[in-house]
Amino acid sequence: MAKHEHVRVAVIGSGFGGLGAAVRLRREGITDFVVLERADSVGGTWRDNSYPGCACDVPSHLYSFSFAPNPDWPRVFSGQSHIRAYLEHLTDTFGLRPHLRLNHEVLLMRWITEAAHWEIETSRGIITADVVVSATGPLSDPKVPEVSGLDSFPGKVFHSARWDHGYDLRGKRVAVIGTGASAIQIVPAIQPDVARLTLFQRTPPWVLPRADRAISGAERWLHRKVPATAVARRGLLWGIRELQVQAFTKRPDELGLVERVAKANIARAIKDPALRARLTPSYRIGCKRILLSSTYYPALARPNVDVVSSGLAEVRGSAVVGADGAQTEVDAIIFGTGFHVTDMPIAERVVGADGITLAEAWKDGMESLRGATAAGFPNWMTVIGPNTGLGNSSMILMIEAQLSYLGDYLRTLGSLGPGAALTPRPAAVDAWNHRVQERMKRTVWNTGGCTSWYLDDNGRNTTIWPGTTTEFRRATRAVDLREYDVVPARTGKPRDREALR
Ligand code: NAP
Repeated sequence: MAKHEHVRVAVIGSGFGGLGAAVRLRREGITDFVVLERADSVGGTWRDNSYPGCACDVPSHLYSFSFAPNPDWPRVFSGQSHIRAYLEHLTDTFGLRPHLRLNHEVLLMRWITEAAHWEIETSRGIITADVVVSATGPLSDPKVPEVSGLDSFPGKVFHSARWDHGYDLRGKRVAVIGTGASAIQIVPAIQPDVARLTLFQRTPPWVLPRADRAISGAERWLHRKVPATAVARRGLLWGIRELQVQAFTKRPDELGLVERVAKANIARAIKDPALRARLTPSYRIGCKRILLSSTYYPALARPNVDVVSSGLAEVRGSAVVGADGAQTEVDAIIFGTGFHVTDMPIAERVVGADGITLAEAWKDGMESLRGATAAGFPNWMTVIGPNTGLGNSSMILMIEAQLSYLGDYLRTLGSLGPGAALTPRPAAVDAWNHRVQERMKRTVWNTGGCTSWYLDDNGRNTTIWPGTTTEFRRATRAVDLREYDVVPARTGKPRDREALR
């Protein structure tokens, strides 16, 4: 039988989460690890999303690792190419290339109790690992709704995260489906080029102006020469968001003030009262992700743009048909319809100690211990797991907190001797989720009167962290061994924790 490569840790994914985990492993002195990546380069969602206008709406000095500052960010809100280049640079700077296994798609990973390791079947063969760090991200698998007639549409169809750069949109009649963070960047970027743009808006988003600008040469020079200035800049950006989040989590009524700013943003560009009304949301701002753009509404006011205030119901030949019956002939359909977040496909590919998949374990909703580990899945950890998302700040802060937890998890595991495995106690998972869901009750995401991808099919918010990033950092600083069972290699049965003390 062919001998498999065995590693101490297998990281899955090479976006911010996976690369961050890899850096952390090296810092913990662990070099026996691989990063499995299904694509042919690193970057995760910042590699896949290359649509026109793609940029991050969190300022770059905050949307980057604290341990890898970049004094040369060109803009307040950097574009996709700069963020992707940052991740490539990070890969080189921290010596991660030798660990990368590109074009290795994970097809299945199974916990083998007798061996106390994970058997990972990839598109390039099997690898075994003591520990799996799943960093596949919530925004990795595009979601295209099932629309009758789409298969026989004679024109071009693609998703925002799979942009076809070989297709020339100039002079074409284009339908854009969706008005989320992706679509509102695409619309102003392509509107000047296309003959006609028909935007299908199922639910209007709240959009605030985007105060973007180039970061001056003087600022960059200062950040290079006096790194403390970049640290201070980051600290300020973080602190503002830390204060703001209280309104989202505890006092949604205060957000009414922000709605006025957003309404003024609409009124500035949209003079037609009927269109203005259709673009004005009827739910509390913040319930869905607040979007930032100063070019979206002006683009909608252009004569070559139509807004259909309904979802896409059907494709009839080369016509797109809205739920309101409106029918428009188009050459191309672009889906800005988001991702499989609460039903992430990777969960189908993880088989735990009891022989069930993570998707089965999560059939009533995703849940984990401290956003990281799942009951029944020994030595398995996820980065950006359940309830670690943010509505108003930088995900990188949450990822870094999870990396601290990962570091302590591996140290704890190491201290338990070879062959040991850690699996969270179901009671600890329940207690954690109970606390999270209790806090969720009064947040704007649950009370704001909207549906969003933050909620799963049962209406439970399993994606957002209902607190400050400081609170999450505190909660994930160290592993509390009382929350775990230690599984010895041979029997697979939980050992009495008391015996370990
Ligand atoms: P999204 O936020 O999930 O938005 C999907 C859009 O498609 C929504 O407007 C949704 O309408 C609509 N939709 C879904 N199914 C539809 C259907 N059958 N017919 C018509 N419309 C339909 O997806 P996204 O825009 O790709 O953004 C996902 C996340 O990526 C963001 O929330 C953000 O976290 C991240 N992102 C960030 C940036 C940034 O930093 N600027 C940019 C892009 C993405 P409903 O609202 O009615 O459901």
